[in-house]
Formats: sequence, structure tokens, C-alpha cells
Amino acid sequence: MEIPRGIREAIQKDGMQMNDKKCCGHIKGVVCDVKNCAYHDGETRCTAGEITVGPTYASTSHDTACATFKPNEDMKG
Ligand code: SF4
Repeated sequence: MEIPRGIREAIQKDGMQMNDKKCCGHIKGVVCDVKNCAYHDGETRCTAGEITVGPTYASTSHDTACATFKPNEDMKG
């Protein structure tokens, strides 16, 4: 998909790189609801360059969590 020039320039200005994993400032294919994470875009997307999910002993989806999570200090009350 061709990215419009204005959007590409805005992303490059912000220092973000576009590649197969990341487009328009977020990781493709990752939908996240953890809005109090510093990497969350406020909608449903993750803006971290990559994420790590664990733990290694998980046996159901309830056992897993994003180890890249970082508290958004601006959202602390
Ligand atoms: S780092 Fe993990 S918790 Fe934070 S926005 Fe990305 S996927 Fe969600």
C-alpha cells in the first residue's frame, strides 16, 4: 500500500521508521487495550518498536502479558 507523501513526511519528521512491522507509528497486527501504557496511542494501537510477551510457562491466553508495558506517568492520578 502506498503511503501518502504528507503522512510519510510527518512520520519521518517524528523520527519513526516505516518497515514491514511498523506502519504509521504503530505495530501492524497488534491490537492493545492497555491505554495506561506509555506506548499506547490512545485508540487500540501499540507504538513500541517491538513487544515481548510472556511468560514462557503460559498455558492459556489468561496467563500471558506484555512484558514491554511501561506505565504512562501522565495518567497517574
Ligand atoms: S507495550 Fe504492550 S501494553 Fe504497551 S501499548 Fe504496546 S502492546 Fe500494549
